[in-house]
Amino acid sequence: MPRRPEVVHVESSPPGHHDRSWFGSSLARWLVLANFLTVAGLISVAALLLWQMRTDAERRSQLTANSLVQVLGRDIARNVELYDLSLLAVVEGFGRTDVAQASPELRQLILFDRAASAPGFAFLLLLDTNGVIASGSDHLVPKGLDRSEAEYFRHFVAHPDDDGLHISPPAISRVSGQRMIMLSRRLSNPDGSFAGVVVGGIKIDYLRRLFASVDAEHAGTVTLYGPEGIILMREPYDQSAIGASVADTPSYRRMIAMREGSFVGPAMLGDGERRLTFARLGTEPLTLSIAVAPSAIYAEWWHRALGLSMVLLSLCSVTASLTWLLRRELGRREQAEARLLAANARLAAQATTDALTGLGNRRRFDEALAQEWDRAVRSRRPLSLILIDADCFKGFNDTYGHQRGDEALRLIAGSIRAAANRASDLACRVGGEEFAVILPEIDSAGAEIVAERIRTAVMGWAMPHAEGPHAVLTVSCGVASVPEVLAHNAAALVAEADAALYAAKGAGRNQVRAAERSKTVLRFVS
Ligand code: GH3
Ligand code: MG
Ligand code: MG
Repeated sequence: MPRRPEVVHVESSPPGHHDRSWFGSSLARWLVLANFLTVAGLISVAALLLWQMRTDAERRSQLTANSLVQVLGRDIARNVELYDLSLLAVVEGFGRTDVAQASPELRQLILFDRAASAPGFAFLLLLDTNGVIASGSDHLVPKGLDRSEAEYFRHFVAHPDDDGLHISPPAISRVSGQRMIMLSRRLSNPDGSFAGVVVGGIKIDYLRRLFASVDAEHAGTVTLYGPEGIILMREPYDQSAIGASVADTPSYRRMIAMREGSFVGPAMLGDGERRLTFARLGTEPLTLSIAVAPSAIYAEWWHRALGLSMVLLSLCSVTASLTWLLRRELGRREQAEARLLAANARLAAQATTDALTGLGNRRRFDEALAQEWDRAVRSRRPLSLILIDADCFKGFNDTYGHQRGDEALRLIAGSIRAAANRASDLACRVGGEEFAVILPEIDSAGAEIVAERIRTAVMGWAMPHAEGPHAVLTVSCGVASVPEVLAHNAAALVAEADAALYAAKGAGRNQVRAAERSKTVLRFVS
Protein backbone atom coordinates (compact mmCIF):
# COMPACT_ATOMS: atom_id res chain seq x y z
CA MET A 1 0.00 0.00 0.00
CA PRO A 2 1.65 3.28 -1.07
CA ARG A 3 2.30 5.81 1.63
CA ARG A 4 0.93 9.26 1.20
CA PRO A 5 3.64 11.85 0.78
CA GLU A 6 3.43 14.62 3.33
CA VAL A 7 3.79 18.22 2.33
CA VAL A 8 6.82 19.52 4.13
CA HIS A 9 7.88 23.16 3.95
CA VAL A 10 11.58 23.71 3.96
CA GLU A 11 13.02 27.16 4.47
CA SER A 12 15.00 28.22 1.50
CA SER A 13 18.44 29.84 1.92
CA PRO A 14 18.26 33.35 3.40
CA PRO A 15 17.80 36.03 0.78
CA GLY A 16 20.58 38.52 0.20
CA HIS A 17 23.62 36.33 0.77
CA HIS A 18 24.61 37.08 -2.82
CA ASP A 19 24.23 40.78 -2.16
CA ARG A 20 26.58 40.54 0.79
CA SER A 21 29.25 38.98 -1.38
CA TRP A 22 28.76 41.64 -4.02
CA PHE A 23 28.93 44.30 -1.30
CA GLY A 24 32.16 42.80 -0.02
CA SER A 25 34.07 42.99 -3.28
CA SER A 26 32.52 46.33 -4.10
CA LEU A 27 33.54 47.67 -0.69
CA ALA A 28 37.12 46.57 -1.32
CA ARG A 29 37.10 48.34 -4.66
CA TRP A 30 35.75 51.54 -3.15
CA LEU A 31 38.25 51.28 -0.35
CA VAL A 32 41.17 51.03 -2.73
CA LEU A 33 39.78 53.82 -4.88
CA ALA A 34 39.18 56.10 -1.89
CA ASN A 35 42.68 55.47 -0.61
CA PHE A 36 44.17 56.00 -4.01
CA LEU A 37 42.33 59.32 -4.30
CA THR A 38 43.44 60.35 -0.81
CA VAL A 39 47.07 59.58 -1.58
CA ALA A 40 46.84 61.28 -4.97
CA GLY A 41 45.22 64.31 -3.30
CA LEU A 42 47.93 64.46 -0.65
CA ILE A 43 50.67 64.26 -3.26
CA SER A 44 49.01 66.95 -5.40
CA VAL A 45 48.65 69.33 -2.45
CA ALA A 46 52.26 68.70 -1.42
CA ALA A 47 53.48 69.21 -4.98
CA LEU A 48 51.58 72.50 -5.19
CA LEU A 49 52.99 73.57 -1.84
CA LEU A 50 56.53 72.68 -2.85
CA TRP A 51 56.16 74.47 -6.14
CA GLN A 52 54.94 77.60 -4.33
CA MET A 53 57.80 77.34 -1.84
CA ARG A 54 60.24 77.05 -4.72
CA THR A 55 58.80 80.12 -6.45
CA ASP A 56 58.97 82.00 -3.15
CA ALA A 57 62.61 81.03 -2.64
CA GLU A 58 63.44 82.28 -6.11
CA ARG A 59 61.53 85.53 -5.62
CA ARG A 60 63.10 86.15 -2.22
CA SER A 61 66.58 85.58 -3.58
CA GLN A 62 65.87 87.88 -6.52
CA LEU A 63 64.53 90.62 -4.24
CA THR A 64 67.56 90.37 -1.96
CA ALA A 65 69.96 90.52 -4.90
CA ASN A 66 68.10 93.49 -6.39
CA SER A 67 68.11 95.55 -3.25
CA LEU A 68 71.77 94.73 -2.55
CA VAL A 69 72.81 95.80 -6.03
CA GLN A 70 70.84 99.02 -5.61
CA VAL A 71 72.17 99.91 -2.15
CA LEU A 72 75.76 98.89 -2.71
CA GLY A 73 75.81 100.36 -6.21
CA ARG A 74 74.53 103.71 -4.94
CA ASP A 75 77.25 103.74 -2.26
CA ILE A 76 80.06 102.99 -4.69
CA ALA A 77 78.77 105.40 -7.32
CA ARG A 78 78.54 108.18 -4.71
CA ASN A 79 82.11 107.58 -3.51
CA VAL A 80 83.52 107.51 -7.04
CA GLU A 81 81.60 110.65 -7.89
CA LEU A 82 82.86 112.37 -4.77
CA TYR A 83 86.40 111.44 -5.58
CA ASP A 84 86.00 112.52 -9.17
CA LEU A 85 84.78 115.89 -7.96
CA SER A 86 88.14 116.32 -6.17
CA LEU A 87 89.94 115.40 -9.39
CA LEU A 88 87.76 117.80 -11.40
CA ALA A 89 88.50 120.61 -8.93
CA VAL A 90 92.22 120.08 -9.53
CA VAL A 91 91.73 119.92 -13.33
CA GLU A 92 89.67 123.08 -13.23
CA GLY A 93 92.07 125.01 -11.01
CA PHE A 94 95.08 123.85 -13.00
CA GLY A 95 93.72 125.27 -16.21
CA ARG A 96 93.35 128.77 -14.81
CA THR A 97 96.09 131.28 -15.50
CA ASP A 98 95.60 133.08 -12.19
CA VAL A 99 96.17 129.86 -10.32
CA ALA A 100 99.22 129.09 -12.45
CA GLN A 101 100.65 132.44 -11.57
CA ALA A 102 100.00 132.10 -7.82
CA SER A 103 102.76 131.20 -5.37
CA PRO A 104 103.42 127.43 -4.91
CA GLU A 105 101.84 127.48 -1.42
CA LEU A 106 98.72 129.30 -2.63
CA ARG A 107 98.54 127.08 -5.68
CA GLN A 108 98.70 123.99 -3.44
CA LEU A 109 95.95 125.41 -1.29
CA ILE A 110 93.68 126.29 -4.23
CA LEU A 111 94.15 123.02 -6.11
CA PHE A 112 93.68 120.61 -3.22
CA ASP A 113 91.27 122.45 -0.93
CA ARG A 114 88.38 120.28 -2.10
CA ALA A 115 90.36 117.07 -2.04
CA ALA A 116 88.30 114.35 -0.46
CA SER A 117 89.74 113.19 2.80
CA ALA A 118 87.47 110.27 3.61
CA PRO A 119 89.23 107.23 5.12
CA GLY A 120 88.87 105.19 1.91
CA PHE A 121 90.53 107.74 -0.27
CA ALA A 122 94.25 108.02 -0.88
CA PHE A 123 95.86 111.43 -1.41
CA LEU A 124 95.97 113.07 -4.84
CA LEU A 125 99.10 113.32 -6.96
CA LEU A 126 99.95 115.70 -9.73
CA LEU A 127 102.21 114.31 -12.46
CA ASP A 128 103.90 116.61 -14.90
CA THR A 129 104.17 115.98 -18.62
CA ASN A 130 107.04 113.55 -17.98
CA GLY A 131 105.14 111.51 -15.43
CA VAL A 132 107.13 112.80 -12.52
CA ILE A 133 105.28 113.66 -9.30
CA ALA A 134 105.13 117.46 -9.14
CA SER A 135 102.94 117.88 -6.08
CA GLY A 136 100.19 116.24 -4.04
CA SER A 137 97.35 116.82 -1.63
CA ASP A 138 99.60 115.74 1.22
CA HIS A 139 103.04 117.06 2.10
CA LEU A 140 104.25 113.44 2.44
CA VAL A 141 104.02 112.75 -1.30
CA PRO A 142 107.44 111.83 -2.75
CA LYS A 143 107.94 114.70 -5.15
CA GLY A 144 110.22 113.94 -8.04
CA LEU A 145 109.25 110.22 -8.20
CA ASP A 146 108.96 109.06 -11.78
CA ARG A 147 105.52 107.45 -12.45
CA SER A 148 105.72 107.67 -16.21
CA GLU A 149 105.41 103.86 -16.40
CA ALA A 150 102.15 103.83 -14.44
CA GLU A 151 99.16 102.54 -16.39
CA TYR A 152 97.14 105.75 -15.99
CA PHE A 153 99.99 107.99 -17.19
CA ARG A 154 100.59 105.82 -20.23
CA HIS A 155 96.86 105.86 -20.90
CA PHE A 156 96.71 109.65 -21.12
CA VAL A 157 99.88 109.82 -23.21
CA ALA A 158 98.32 107.29 -25.58
CA HIS A 159 94.92 109.02 -25.57
CA PRO A 160 95.63 112.76 -25.58
CA ASP A 161 91.98 113.53 -26.35
CA ASP A 162 90.57 111.65 -23.35
CA ASP A 163 89.39 114.30 -20.90
CA GLY A 164 87.14 111.97 -18.93
CA LEU A 165 87.67 109.98 -15.76
CA HIS A 166 90.03 107.04 -16.19
CA ILE A 167 89.75 104.07 -13.85
CA SER A 168 92.80 101.77 -13.66
CA PRO A 169 92.89 98.13 -12.66
CA PRO A 170 93.76 97.53 -8.99
CA ALA A 171 97.47 97.85 -8.31
CA ILE A 172 99.80 98.39 -5.38
CA SER A 173 100.52 102.09 -4.99
CA ARG A 174 104.22 102.96 -5.18
CA VAL A 175 103.52 105.90 -2.92
CA SER A 176 101.40 104.40 -0.14
CA GLY A 177 102.20 100.73 -0.64
CA GLN A 178 98.49 99.91 -0.52
CA ARG A 179 96.38 98.12 -3.10
CA MET A 180 94.21 100.65 -4.84
CA ILE A 181 91.98 101.39 -7.77
CA MET A 182 93.44 104.49 -9.38
CA LEU A 183 91.17 107.27 -10.68
CA SER A 184 92.83 109.81 -12.95
CA ARG A 185 92.13 112.75 -15.23
CA ARG A 186 94.13 114.63 -17.80
CA LEU A 187 95.58 118.05 -16.88
CA SER A 188 95.62 120.74 -19.54
CA ASN A 189 97.47 124.00 -19.78
CA PRO A 190 95.39 127.15 -20.28
CA ASP A 191 96.14 126.76 -24.00
CA GLY A 192 94.69 123.20 -23.95
CA SER A 193 98.00 121.36 -24.33
CA PHE A 194 98.80 118.26 -22.20
CA ALA A 195 100.09 119.34 -18.82
CA GLY A 196 100.17 116.05 -16.97
CA VAL A 197 97.82 113.86 -14.98
CA VAL A 198 96.05 114.18 -11.64
CA VAL A 199 95.58 110.80 -9.98
CA GLY A 200 94.12 109.46 -6.80
CA GLY A 201 92.99 106.10 -5.50
CA ILE A 202 90.25 104.29 -3.65
CA LYS A 203 91.75 101.78 -1.26
CA ILE A 204 90.82 98.18 -1.94
CA ASP A 205 90.62 97.64 1.82
CA TYR A 206 87.91 100.23 1.98
CA LEU A 207 85.95 98.49 -0.77
CA ARG A 208 86.49 95.17 0.98
CA ARG A 209 84.92 96.54 4.14
CA LEU A 210 82.02 97.89 2.11
CA PHE A 211 81.49 94.56 0.31
CA ALA A 212 81.92 92.56 3.47
CA SER A 213 78.84 94.22 4.92
CA VAL A 214 76.93 92.13 2.40
CA ASP A 215 76.23 88.64 3.62
CA ALA A 216 77.90 87.16 0.56
CA GLU A 217 77.52 83.61 1.78
CA HIS A 218 73.77 83.90 1.35
CA ALA A 219 73.54 86.69 -1.19
CA GLY A 220 76.00 85.19 -3.68
CA THR A 221 79.17 86.60 -5.24
CA VAL A 222 79.31 90.41 -5.39
CA THR A 223 81.58 91.73 -8.14
CA LEU A 224 82.53 95.22 -9.27
CA TYR A 225 83.69 95.44 -12.89
CA GLY A 226 85.70 98.32 -14.29
CA PRO A 227 86.34 99.26 -17.92
CA GLU A 228 87.03 96.33 -20.27
CA GLY A 229 85.49 93.83 -17.89
CA ILE A 230 88.29 94.09 -15.36
CA ILE A 231 87.33 92.80 -11.95
CA LEU A 232 87.99 95.61 -9.50
CA MET A 233 86.61 93.99 -6.41
CA ARG A 234 84.93 90.76 -5.49
CA GLU A 235 83.36 89.35 -2.36
CA PRO A 236 84.07 86.63 -1.25
CA TYR A 237 87.50 88.13 -1.73
CA ASP A 238 89.75 86.29 -4.16
CA GLN A 239 93.10 87.95 -4.81
CA SER A 240 93.70 85.96 -8.01
CA ALA A 241 90.43 87.18 -9.51
CA ILE A 242 91.13 90.88 -8.83
CA GLY A 243 92.44 92.56 -11.99
CA ALA A 244 91.35 89.67 -14.25
CA SER A 245 89.27 90.54 -17.29
CA VAL A 246 85.99 88.76 -18.06
CA ALA A 247 85.21 90.96 -21.07
CA ASP A 248 85.19 87.96 -23.39
CA THR A 249 82.66 85.90 -21.43
CA PRO A 250 79.13 85.70 -22.91
CA SER A 251 77.53 86.61 -19.59
CA TYR A 252 79.61 89.81 -19.30
CA ARG A 253 78.76 90.85 -22.85
CA ARG A 254 75.06 90.23 -22.19
CA MET A 255 75.28 92.14 -18.92
CA ILE A 256 76.92 95.18 -20.54
CA ALA A 257 74.36 95.14 -23.35
CA MET A 258 71.48 95.13 -20.87
CA ARG A 259 73.06 97.69 -18.48
CA GLU A 260 70.67 96.70 -15.72
CA GLY A 261 68.53 93.64 -14.92
CA SER A 262 68.83 89.94 -14.26
CA PHE A 263 69.32 86.71 -16.21
CA VAL A 264 70.57 83.17 -15.81
CA GLY A 265 73.75 82.38 -17.70
CA PRO A 266 77.11 80.64 -17.47
CA ALA A 267 79.43 81.77 -14.68
CA MET A 268 82.11 84.28 -15.71
CA LEU A 269 84.64 82.70 -13.39
CA GLY A 270 84.27 79.03 -12.57
CA ASP A 271 81.76 76.50 -13.87
CA GLY A 272 78.02 76.13 -13.84
CA GLU A 273 75.10 78.44 -14.13
CA ARG A 274 74.53 81.64 -12.18
CA ARG A 275 71.63 83.98 -11.82
CA LEU A 276 73.15 87.44 -12.36
CA THR A 277 71.53 90.58 -11.03
CA PHE A 278 73.41 93.71 -12.03
CA ALA A 279 73.37 97.47 -12.58
CA ARG A 280 75.60 100.04 -14.26
CA LEU A 281 76.79 102.55 -11.65
CA GLY A 282 75.89 106.13 -12.57
CA THR A 283 77.69 107.49 -15.61
CA GLU A 284 80.97 105.69 -14.85
CA PRO A 285 82.14 102.58 -16.71
CA LEU A 286 81.45 100.55 -13.60
CA THR A 287 79.09 97.61 -13.24
CA LEU A 288 78.10 95.84 -10.04
CA SER A 289 76.71 92.30 -10.12
CA ILE A 290 75.51 89.66 -7.71
CA ALA A 291 75.86 86.11 -9.00
CA VAL A 292 73.95 83.34 -7.29
CA ALA A 293 74.25 79.65 -8.10
CA PRO A 294 70.85 77.91 -8.48
CA SER A 295 71.96 75.44 -5.80
CA ALA A 296 72.33 78.38 -3.38
CA ILE A 297 68.92 79.81 -4.34
CA TYR A 298 67.17 76.49 -3.71
CA ALA A 299 69.41 75.12 -0.92
CA GLU A 300 66.93 75.84 1.85
CA TRP A 301 64.01 74.87 -0.33
CA TRP A 302 65.62 71.51 -1.06
CA HIS A 303 66.06 70.97 2.63
CA ARG A 304 62.38 71.59 3.35
CA ALA A 305 61.21 69.74 0.25
CA LEU A 306 63.20 66.70 1.32
CA GLY A 307 61.70 66.81 4.82
CA LEU A 308 58.17 67.23 3.52
CA SER A 309 58.64 64.48 0.93
CA MET A 310 59.90 62.07 3.57
CA VAL A 311 56.88 62.74 5.80
CA LEU A 312 54.54 62.42 2.83
CA LEU A 313 56.22 59.26 1.63
CA SER A 314 55.89 57.69 5.07
CA LEU A 315 52.22 58.68 5.25
CA CYS A 316 51.55 57.31 1.80
CA SER A 317 53.33 54.04 2.47
CA VAL A 318 51.44 53.58 5.74
CA THR A 319 48.15 54.29 3.94
CA ALA A 320 49.06 51.99 1.06
CA SER A 321 50.13 49.20 3.43
CA LEU A 322 46.93 49.52 5.45
CA THR A 323 44.86 49.50 2.29
CA TRP A 324 46.71 46.47 1.03
CA LEU A 325 46.20 44.64 4.33
CA LEU A 326 42.52 45.56 4.45
CA ARG A 327 42.08 44.62 0.81
CA ARG A 328 43.74 41.26 1.43
CA GLU A 329 41.57 40.65 4.48
CA LEU A 330 38.43 41.52 2.53
CA GLY A 331 39.60 39.28 -0.30
CA ARG A 332 40.08 36.41 2.11
CA ARG A 333 36.66 36.96 3.57
CA GLU A 334 35.13 37.05 0.12
CA GLN A 335 36.85 33.81 -0.81
CA ALA A 336 35.72 32.16 2.42
CA GLU A 337 32.21 33.41 1.79
CA ALA A 338 32.27 32.09 -1.77
CA ARG A 339 33.52 28.70 -0.54
CA LEU A 340 30.79 28.66 2.07
CA LEU A 341 28.15 29.54 -0.51
CA ALA A 342 29.37 26.79 -2.82
CA ALA A 343 29.35 24.30 0.04
CA ASN A 344 25.86 25.44 0.99
CA ALA A 345 24.69 25.05 -2.58
CA ARG A 346 26.21 21.56 -2.71
CA LEU A 347 24.56 20.67 0.59
CA ALA A 348 21.25 22.10 -0.59
CA ALA A 349 21.45 20.02 -3.77
CA GLN A 350 22.39 16.93 -1.78
CA ALA A 351 19.56 17.61 0.63
CA THR A 352 17.03 17.44 -2.19
CA THR A 353 18.54 14.62 -4.27
CA ASP A 354 18.01 10.91 -3.87
CA ALA A 355 21.39 9.23 -3.61
CA LEU A 356 20.42 5.93 -5.22
CA THR A 357 18.65 7.17 -8.37
CA GLY A 358 19.77 10.81 -8.72
CA LEU A 359 16.10 11.89 -8.89
CA GLY A 360 14.65 14.45 -6.54
CA ASN A 361 13.98 13.14 -3.05
CA ARG A 362 10.92 13.35 -0.90
CA ARG A 363 11.76 16.82 0.36
CA ARG A 364 12.20 18.06 -3.19
CA PHE A 365 8.87 16.54 -4.13
CA ASP A 366 7.07 18.24 -1.28
CA GLU A 367 8.55 21.65 -2.05
CA ALA A 368 7.96 21.39 -5.78
CA LEU A 369 4.42 20.15 -5.44
CA ALA A 370 3.53 23.01 -3.08
CA GLN A 371 5.00 25.51 -5.52
CA GLU A 372 3.37 24.00 -8.59
CA TRP A 373 0.04 23.79 -6.82
CA ASP A 374 0.19 27.51 -5.99
CA ARG A 375 1.20 28.37 -9.54
CA ALA A 376 -1.57 26.23 -11.03
CA VAL A 377 -4.12 27.90 -8.76
CA ARG A 378 -2.80 31.39 -9.61
CA SER A 379 -2.66 30.81 -13.35
CA ARG A 380 -5.69 28.47 -13.49
CA ARG A 381 -3.64 26.04 -15.53
CA PRO A 382 -3.76 22.19 -15.29
CA LEU A 383 -1.43 20.22 -13.06
CA SER A 384 -0.96 16.42 -13.07
CA LEU A 385 0.64 14.02 -10.67
CA ILE A 386 1.66 10.38 -11.34
CA LEU A 387 2.49 8.02 -8.47
CA ILE A 388 4.49 4.95 -9.55
CA ASP A 389 5.04 1.84 -7.40
CA ALA A 390 7.10 -1.25 -8.25
CA ASP A 391 4.96 -4.34 -8.25
CA CYS A 392 5.60 -7.05 -5.65
CA PHE A 393 8.96 -5.58 -4.97
CA LYS A 394 9.30 -7.23 -1.62
CA GLY A 395 9.25 -10.51 -3.49
CA PHE A 396 11.84 -9.20 -5.99
CA ASN A 397 14.19 -8.35 -3.15
CA ASP A 398 13.58 -11.64 -1.47
CA THR A 399 14.30 -13.54 -4.70
CA TYR A 400 17.20 -11.56 -6.25
CA GLY A 401 18.66 -9.78 -3.30
CA HIS A 402 18.73 -6.20 -2.18
CA GLN A 403 21.53 -5.16 -4.56
CA ARG A 404 19.66 -6.37 -7.60
CA GLY A 405 16.62 -4.64 -6.13
CA ASP A 406 18.61 -1.34 -6.13
CA GLU A 407 19.52 -1.92 -9.79
CA ALA A 408 15.86 -2.44 -10.60
CA LEU A 409 15.02 0.84 -8.79
CA ARG A 410 17.66 2.68 -10.89
CA LEU A 411 16.18 1.12 -14.02
CA ILE A 412 12.69 2.36 -13.09
CA ALA A 413 14.17 5.84 -12.32
CA GLY A 414 15.81 5.92 -15.77
CA SER A 415 12.53 4.98 -17.44
CA ILE A 416 10.66 7.72 -15.57
CA ARG A 417 13.33 10.31 -16.46
CA ALA A 418 13.09 9.38 -20.14
CA ALA A 419 9.29 9.54 -20.21
CA ALA A 420 8.88 12.82 -18.31
CA ASN A 421 11.50 14.82 -20.16
CA ARG A 422 10.12 18.37 -20.34
CA ALA A 423 12.12 20.99 -18.44
CA SER A 424 9.18 21.65 -16.13
CA ASP A 425 8.54 17.93 -15.38
CA LEU A 426 9.89 16.75 -12.08
CA ALA A 427 10.53 13.10 -11.17
CA CYS A 428 11.21 12.15 -7.56
CA ARG A 429 11.70 9.02 -5.48
CA VAL A 430 9.24 9.51 -2.69
CA GLY A 431 9.58 6.18 -0.87
CA GLY A 432 11.44 2.84 -1.00
CA GLU A 433 10.07 1.59 -4.35
CA GLU A 434 7.69 4.51 -4.88
CA PHE A 435 8.16 7.35 -7.38
CA ALA A 436 6.21 10.47 -8.30
CA VAL A 437 6.18 12.74 -11.33
CA ILE A 438 4.83 16.29 -11.22
CA LEU A 439 3.64 17.49 -14.64
CA PRO A 440 2.75 21.17 -14.70
CA GLU A 441 0.50 22.37 -17.54
CA ILE A 442 -0.44 18.72 -18.38
CA ASP A 443 -4.02 17.53 -18.15
CA SER A 444 -5.28 14.08 -17.24
CA ALA A 445 -5.08 12.65 -20.77
CA GLY A 446 -1.50 13.80 -21.24
CA ALA A 447 -0.51 12.49 -17.83
CA GLU A 448 -2.02 9.08 -18.59
CA ILE A 449 0.08 8.92 -21.77
CA VAL A 450 3.25 9.70 -19.79
CA ALA A 451 2.31 7.09 -17.16
CA GLU A 452 1.67 4.54 -19.83
CA ARG A 453 5.03 5.36 -21.41
CA ILE A 454 6.70 4.66 -18.05
CA ARG A 455 4.86 1.44 -17.48
CA THR A 456 5.68 0.04 -20.93
CA ALA A 457 9.30 1.21 -20.69
CA VAL A 458 9.82 -0.66 -17.39
CA MET A 459 8.15 -3.76 -18.68
CA GLY A 460 10.17 -3.39 -21.91
CA TRP A 461 13.39 -4.01 -19.96
CA ALA A 462 12.08 -7.51 -19.36
CA MET A 463 13.91 -7.74 -16.10
CA PRO A 464 13.09 -11.20 -14.65
CA HIS A 465 10.76 -11.04 -11.65
CA ALA A 466 9.57 -14.47 -10.68
CA GLU A 467 7.34 -13.10 -7.92
CA GLY A 468 5.71 -10.47 -10.16
CA PRO A 469 2.37 -10.85 -11.94
CA HIS A 470 4.03 -11.06 -15.38
CA ALA A 471 7.38 -12.73 -14.51
CA VAL A 472 9.15 -9.45 -15.41
CA LEU A 473 9.65 -6.23 -13.49
CA THR A 474 6.56 -4.03 -13.74
CA VAL A 475 5.14 -0.92 -12.16
CA SER A 476 1.65 0.32 -11.40
CA CYS A 477 0.74 4.01 -11.88
CA GLY A 478 -1.94 6.23 -10.35
CA VAL A 479 -2.70 9.52 -12.13
CA ALA A 480 -4.57 12.52 -10.75
CA SER A 481 -4.97 15.90 -12.47
CA VAL A 482 -6.63 19.17 -11.75
CA PRO A 483 -8.99 20.47 -12.91
CA GLU A 484 -10.40 17.04 -13.90
CA VAL A 485 -10.24 15.86 -10.28
CA LEU A 486 -11.80 17.77 -7.44
CA ALA A 487 -8.91 18.58 -5.09
CA HIS A 488 -8.82 21.39 -2.61
CA ASN A 489 -5.12 21.36 -2.04
CA ALA A 490 -1.90 19.62 -3.01
CA ALA A 491 -2.34 16.92 -0.35
CA ALA A 492 -5.79 16.14 -1.78
CA LEU A 493 -4.26 15.73 -5.25
CA VAL A 494 -1.69 13.30 -3.79
CA ALA A 495 -4.50 11.40 -2.10
CA GLU A 496 -6.40 11.16 -5.42
CA ALA A 497 -3.32 9.82 -7.22
CA ASP A 498 -2.68 7.42 -4.35
CA ALA A 499 -6.24 6.14 -4.58
CA ALA A 500 -5.81 5.60 -8.34
CA LEU A 501 -2.56 3.71 -7.70
CA TYR A 502 -4.34 1.59 -5.09
CA ALA A 503 -6.98 0.82 -7.71
CA ALA A 504 -4.30 -0.19 -10.25
CA LYS A 505 -2.74 -2.53 -7.70
CA GLY A 506 -6.13 -3.97 -6.88
CA ALA A 507 -6.92 -4.54 -10.55
CA GLY A 508 -3.92 -6.78 -10.99
CA ARG A 509 -0.91 -4.42 -11.14
CA ASN A 510 1.21 -3.42 -14.19
CA GLN A 511 -1.34 -0.83 -15.27
CA VAL A 512 -2.19 2.86 -15.24
CA ARG A 513 -5.26 4.14 -13.44
CA ALA A 514 -6.56 7.71 -13.42
CA ALA A 515 -8.40 9.22 -10.47
CA GLU A 516 -12.10 9.45 -10.83
CA ARG A 517 -13.20 12.55 -12.71
CA SER A 518 -15.36 15.01 -10.82
CA LYS A 519 -18.85 15.39 -12.05
CA THR A 520 -19.24 18.97 -10.89
CA VAL A 521 -17.79 22.00 -12.63
CA LEU A 522 -14.32 22.24 -11.23
CA ARG A 523 -12.98 25.24 -9.49
CA PHE A 524 -9.60 25.68 -7.88
CA VAL A 525 -9.82 26.17 -4.19
CA SER A 526 -6.66 27.42 -2.59
P1 GH3 B 1 2.96 -4.12 -3.97
O1 GH3 B 1 2.96 -4.69 -5.33
O2 GH3 B 1 1.65 -4.18 -3.29
O3 GH3 B 1 3.51 -2.76 -3.97
O4 GH3 B 1 3.90 -5.02 -3.16
P2 GH3 B 1 5.33 -4.66 -2.64
O5 GH3 B 1 6.00 -5.90 -2.19
O6 GH3 B 1 6.07 -3.90 -3.68
O7 GH3 B 1 5.03 -3.70 -1.46
P3 GH3 B 1 5.57 -3.62 -0.02
O8 GH3 B 1 5.25 -2.27 0.51
O9 GH3 B 1 5.07 -4.75 0.78
O10 GH3 B 1 7.12 -3.83 -0.12
C1 GH3 B 1 8.00 -2.84 -0.58
C2 GH3 B 1 9.36 -3.41 -0.63
O11 GH3 B 1 10.28 -2.59 -1.31
C3 GH3 B 1 9.94 -3.63 0.75
C4 GH3 B 1 11.42 -3.53 0.55
O12 GH3 B 1 12.01 -4.81 0.58
C5 GH3 B 1 11.53 -2.94 -0.82
N1 GH3 B 1 12.35 -1.79 -0.74
C6 GH3 B 1 12.05 -0.59 -0.20
N2 GH3 B 1 13.10 0.28 -0.34
C7 GH3 B 1 14.10 -0.40 -0.97
C8 GH3 B 1 15.42 -0.03 -1.40
O13 GH3 B 1 15.89 1.07 -1.21
N3 GH3 B 1 16.13 -1.00 -2.06
C9 GH3 B 1 15.68 -2.22 -2.31
N4 GH3 B 1 16.42 -3.11 -2.94
N5 GH3 B 1 14.44 -2.60 -1.90
C10 GH3 B 1 13.64 -1.69 -1.27
MG1 MG C 1 5.15 0.38 -2.01
MG1 MG D 1 5.44 -2.02 -4.39
